[in-house]
Amino acid sequence: MKKIAIIGAGISGLFIANLLKRNKKYQVNIFERNSLINLKDGYGIQLSVNSIKLLNKIQFDKLENSEKFNPDKINFYSVKNSNKICELNISDFNTENCKYTTLKRSSLINFLKKDLEKEIKFDHTISKIEQQDQIVKISFENNEIYEFDYLIISDGVFSKSKNLLSKNQIEPKFNDTLAIRGIIPSSLNIADKKNISLFLGSNFHYVIYPVSPNGDLNFIAVMKFKLSRDEQKDFSLFKDDNFIRKILEKFPHLNKEFFDNINDLKIYPVFVSHDFFKVNNNNIHLIGDAFFAFSPSFAQGASQSIEGAYELFENIENSTESNFFKNRVNKTKMVNNRSKFNQFTFHLSNPLNIFVRNIFLKRFVKNKKFLESYLGKIYR
Ligand SMILES: Cc1cc2nc3c(=O)[nH]c(=O)nc-3n(C[C@H](O)[C@H](O)[C@H](O)COP(=O)(O)OP(=O)(O)OC[C@H]3O[C@@H](n4cnc5c(N)ncnc54)[C@H](O)[C@@H]3O)c2cc1C
Repeated sequence: MKKIAIIGAGISGLFIANLLKRNKKYQVNIFERNSLINLKDGYGIQLSVNSIKLLNKIQFDKLENSEKFNPDKINFYSVKNSNKICELNISDFNTENCKYTTLKRSSLINFLKKDLEKEIKFDHTISKIEQQDQIVKISFENNEIYEFDYLIISDGVFSKSKNLLSKNQIEPKFNDTLAIRGIIPSSLNIADKKNISLFLGSNFHYVIYPVSPNGDLNFIAVMKFKLSRDEQKDFSLFKDDNFIRKILEKFPHLNKEFFDNINDLKIYPVFVSHDFFKVNNNNIHLIGDAFFAFSPSFAQGASQSIEGAYELFENIENSTESNFFKNRVNKTKMVNNRSKFNQFTFHLSNPLNIFVRNIFLKRFVKNKKFLESYLGKIYR
């Protein structure tokens, strides 16, 4: 039997644990820093068909239909004049059982953790990783020490495990953007309740999509914003009403009443990866945001976390672990280039550039060859 430690009970760690648990030859332990998994938050997540296909291998298709939504299209709007620019049929990439899906992050996490009650050890923060031949020895802040055959690192964008191994050489960087999240109550009739609405502004964009059976919508804005080094680390700043007001004033067309009506509004700085970290040990692997964190403008973070977890699982099954890193880097680079390009085009501010962008957008959303190359290569 192979003993496998997973650090972090997020989307990637829980998914690979589900895959491994199905085979009796693995004994899995998940170590989570927090004392519970927070299922209260109602924020949403988008999952493209590439990850739905993999989630269905652990019966995601059996999840209550009222918790999942299958938007057919993304409607692009100009913030300046509220005009619709064009629409993209994302359902073109769907198959009978795999459809582009939006849902509450908590519904996904709840689904992923339901069969793992015994495997998750809460209140475990990693403090040391030692590699001895084929054995990986891990120590925790509570002084517990364990030995495993494999270590899977899935502790998110600020991965402490990666810091321990890389000696803090590979750290995420502030993306010069803030993310603003909230829930739009169904009573506020401001967007298509069945599809995804993408509003393009100058130096910001926001996305609204369905997440709740009662008609509530998810709101997520990404806005360019400079922060000093001290501000980037000062999380209390994002609870300061004056600071929040200053940020929200940057959305001139959305009046104060709009934000007053958004529930659970939260603002936080977006950090992304700039480099990869290769562990020189085939028994230690990184997945999810610990492997690489993208800018959120392509909504691929969770889907890629799921894809990476599945690839690692297959490599462990086939004893081809040495292939994992190179293949994942190649796919990650493709996604990262598109995420950065999306953010650049979504945030244009010069009117002439915006005019040209909109003309291209209208053409590209109808150009099957382009869509197959830009989206199909990632989604299939
Ligand atoms: C604003 C925004 C919007 C996004 N929207 C989308 C979207 O629509 N679609 C999409 O696909 N992706 C989206 N993403 C990205 C997506 O949320 C992430 O890529 C995904 O959650 C990464 O999963 P993960 O399992 O790697 O890490 P996480 O979900 O961050 O989980 C890490 C886990 O590790 C635990 N942990 C941390 N440190 C330690 C430690 N030292 N020891 C033990 N445990 C630890 C944490 O408590 C947590 O449970 C978005 C990201 C942002 C910032």
